[in-house]
Amino acid sequence: MSTENQALIFELSQEGRAGHSLPEMDIPEKDLSELLPDTYLRKEDAELPEVSELQIMRHYTALSNRNHGVDSGFYPLGSCTMKYNPKINEDVARYPGFAHIHPYQDESTIQGALELMHRLQTNLEEITGMDQVTLQPAAGAHGEWTGLMLIRAYHEANGDTGRTKVIVPDSAHGTNPASATVAGFEAVTVRSNERGIVDLDHLREVVGQDTAALMLTNPNTLGLFEEEIVEMASIVHEAGGKLYYDGANSNAILGITRPGDMGFDVVHLNLHKTFTTPHGGGGPGSGPVGVKSDLVPYLPTPLVVKDGDEYRFDYNVPESIGRVKPYYGNFGINVRAYTYIRTMGPVGLRNVSEYAVLNANYMFRKLEPYFDAPYTQHCKHEFVLSGRRQKKLGVRTLDMAKRLLDFGYHPPTIYFPLNVEECLMIEPTETESKETLDEFIEAMIQIAREVEESPEVVQEAPHNTVIGRMDETTAARKPILRYTKEA
Ligand SMILES: *Cc1c(COP(=O)(O)O)cnc(C)c1O
Repeated sequence: MSTENQALIFELSQEGRAGHSLPEMDIPEKDLSELLPDTYLRKEDAELPEVSELQIMRHYTALSNRNHGVDSGFYPLGSCTMKYNPKINEDVARYPGFAHIHPYQDESTIQGALELMHRLQTNLEEITGMDQVTLQPAAGAHGEWTGLMLIRAYHEANGDTGRTKVIVPDSAHGTNPASATVAGFEAVTVRSNERGIVDLDHLREVVGQDTAALMLTNPNTLGLFEEEIVEMASIVHEAGGKLYYDGANSNAILGITRPGDMGFDVVHLNLHKTFTTPHGGGGPGSGPVGVKSDLVPYLPTPLVVKDGDEYRFDYNVPESIGRVKPYYGNFGINVRAYTYIRTMGPVGLRNVSEYAVLNANYMFRKLEPYFDAPYTQHCKHEFVLSGRRQKKLGVRTLDMAKRLLDFGYHPPTIYFPLNVEECLMIEPTETESKETLDEFIEAMIQIAREVEESPEVVQEAPHNTVIGRMDETTAARKPILRYTKEA
């Protein structure tokens, strides 16, 4: 790497240098103050670096090479599937007929787009075992909130207004209690037992006439299948509550089991996880929600329906909770998901789940001797390890995560779920080769050895990155908003 690549863009700045070369203007220059009110105009010029076009291009290329992403390396995040996103999805999403249409176009001119939405809905209904799907919600958390608003509308329509609580297991993704709260419910925790699944006795204690719903992830965020789901469903249903399925990461169940068959009434999927859209960094997502028939009347409008050979939007849904997103959802993501489902087919989707589970168990059993495994049964698409043993030697899970950066890996999720001490949560995904899995396993074993033989190597990591160990809290609490050469 040349020094130019390592310098800050502000350090490269030379007064008067410009990143563009345009011909002389041959029209009169307009004074901005004629166009904008004075209050919106800058009093001083912005402090921007002055660099050449090549410098700025190289700067961004160098930054992108330092970045971690699915296309640049193994990314074994747990509870947040980061997998290969086939590039054909990108090609199809860019077809002009999909990319260049406008939400206000007449329905007769966008029949293909409507057909795709309708087909995707139907596919997702079949995959989840639900009666009807809406594609509107823009992400997983948004789907959770939408689903809970549907449940609220259902209870209210039945005059059942005392249902103020949503039960959430202690292993749940943080968005679950957050969505319950935003939807106006009180989130109540149900404990996991020593096997990492919901404690049924505790569930019976917390369920009651005030239960609006139980939110559940299955397999849960520990990667464990809630084997007693049918019993749980009847406990909640008997009390008059509904079952909500967090299907953000569904790549352990595709073609094998369906939330609809397990007794769930509402489900959301993260198309930007299970159904391959590049995800992370807050880019657009899609969190379709599927419901059983008794919740269909409350779905957001408009619905995409098929009338004979024609597709149209249906706004005539009197009991609808209303729109949850401008227009019709993040359409481009839906094109990607539909392309993925069609290219995989039913056998391919089932393979996804079989490989996801196989890869996770392979890695789990290889790493188990070197770390502590709080739960020892077979896992589904992800598994958790505890760094308890390493902590006794003065090395924390955070240190091991930093050390992984030296091997070029984005670290897995750490310190989540909260109920596992020094937790490491790993999801290898279905799309990685055995060689990649083996290399990562080797790196983890080497780190475990270093903890015993030369702990300072791990404690002081990373060593091979552009910037060493960061003080993470100060960076978040006192961000540098303005670069000065002296600083
Ligand atoms: C990612 C995730 C969510 C939230 O999805 P977003 O699209 O990030 O809002 C919810 N639950 C689980 C289990 C997840 O992994």
